[in-house]
Amino acid sequence: MYTDVGLFINGEWCQGSSGKSQAIVNPATGKVIARLAHADISDLDRALAAADAGFKVWRATSPHERYKLLRKAGELMRSRAADIAELMTQEQGKPLGEAKMEAMAAADIMDWFAEESRRMYGRVVPARADGVTQLVIKEPVGPVAAFTPWNFPINQAVRKLSAALAAGCSVILKGPEETPASCAALVRVFADAGLPAGVVNLVYGVPAEISSYLIAHPVIRKITFTGSTSVGKKLAAMAGEHMKRATMELGGHAPAIVFADADVQGAARMLAAAKFRNAGQVCVSPTRFLVHESAFQQFVDTFVAAVSAIKVGNGLDKETRMGPLANSRRVEAMQMFVADAVGKGAKLLLGGKRIGTEGNFFEPTVLVDVPMNARIMTEEPFGPIVPIAKFSSFDEVVAEANRLPYGLAAYAFTASLKTATAIGAAFESGMVSINHFGLALPEVPFGGVKDSGYGSEGGTEAIEAYLNTKFITQVGL
Ligand code: NAD
Repeated sequence: MYTDVGLFINGEWCQGSSGKSQAIVNPATGKVIARLAHADISDLDRALAAADAGFKVWRATSPHERYKLLRKAGELMRSRAADIAELMTQEQGKPLGEAKMEAMAAADIMDWFAEESRRMYGRVVPARADGVTQLVIKEPVGPVAAFTPWNFPINQAVRKLSAALAAGCSVILKGPEETPASCAALVRVFADAGLPAGVVNLVYGVPAEISSYLIAHPVIRKITFTGSTSVGKKLAAMAGEHMKRATMELGGHAPAIVFADADVQGAARMLAAAKFRNAGQVCVSPTRFLVHESAFQQFVDTFVAAVSAIKVGNGLDKETRMGPLANSRRVEAMQMFVADAVGKGAKLLLGGKRIGTEGNFFEPTVLVDVPMNARIMTEEPFGPIVPIAKFSSFDEVVAEANRLPYGLAAYAFTASLKTATAIGAAFESGMVSINHFGLALPEVPFGGVKDSGYGSEGGTEAIEAYLNTKFITQVGL
């Protein structure tokens, strides 16, 4: 059952000391379903004191004990996944099956970082002089301030929490105000697994107030943010001003290229399934579809047929394949993108409108002949709209794929190993997936380049973000 959501500070669930709160709205119905407590500065001070004390306890806890706790959290997460999925669908809108998959994937992420906590290896560097020992060791960076968004309320948070905890850091997490209950359920999993008080704290409130206070505070040693590039740049600048380590997981505008020799119909069907997951509100969502001119019509016909079959509805209904958008800002953005593109000469093949007046439903939308000056060709749509364009040569499509300042994910479909190798090398992006959708597993790197940010939230790289490297040289007296 969906109930009010509080703050979690020093091992206790509480209300904010100001008594302020905000409504939590179900995006499928537009109805208020509960209220969310807001933290003020005095609550943040309590969270900072708790994280400071929690760090001292947690860094002194052996990696093996941290491993055991993270594994236990993973088991708890699996056992609660169905209940947590219901909370997530009510607050975020995604179909129940996707919500359950997200909760189950969180358990896998906990398992991965549990194992990584036992592999924080240093090294011994051979010395120049007799009797000298040179050690490189890894130490937790310190208390972390983490900021996570509403599109994957658990996934975005569990990557940061698990990596930080594996490394021995404490965390203050500012969760997503619009989708707070599933993120709170995640924090409860860690608490119930036996995490000492103060090691993880969860706050909600006015994002800019919380981030500016926490980032500047001397207790905080590391910042990690997932969200839009514009906000990320502000937080990264603040982190720089206070010389704090930072990981920035920002927006994208992924090219999806279909070469002439690809399995064109297979690619169209795979892209139709991938694009409308979470109603397109995914940072690695395929965004600019670039199809070779010889395969264009076949691709468009198969793609439109597959997209027409997508059942849009309340995520709690079993048949629903795509839920509402998570908030009304996204509906307004979709209306703007369509009006702008059509106004500049694009042809609307499917969708293009809001559905009904209740909730934030929008039709899966396909556009062709979209001019380059249309906003959707340069701004992240973060919603269920696809522009499909033609290309004729490899060099032309590479230039288009790399045209934007973003560099998060990139996709290509081809039957040629030579083309696959060439396009993999040519993409200016942090992640490339060819002939399938294989990103975002716990054991592989996850992160962008250029305006999509820096740092990785997966693979062996992810734990490095929470570790300092210390060099010790000693000689016997
Ligand atoms: P937004 O830029 O206002 O917010 C994005 C996220 O950042 C939200 O979770 C918000 O709470 C947080 N945020 C905003 N200002 C902040 C601040 N000063 N300090 C700390 N956190 C702050 O926009 P929005 O309307 O929520 O989302 C719109 C855009 O954000 C999307 O179009 C998309 O580009 C991007 N976005 C990206 C991701 C991602 O996974 N990379 C997730 C959600 C949103």
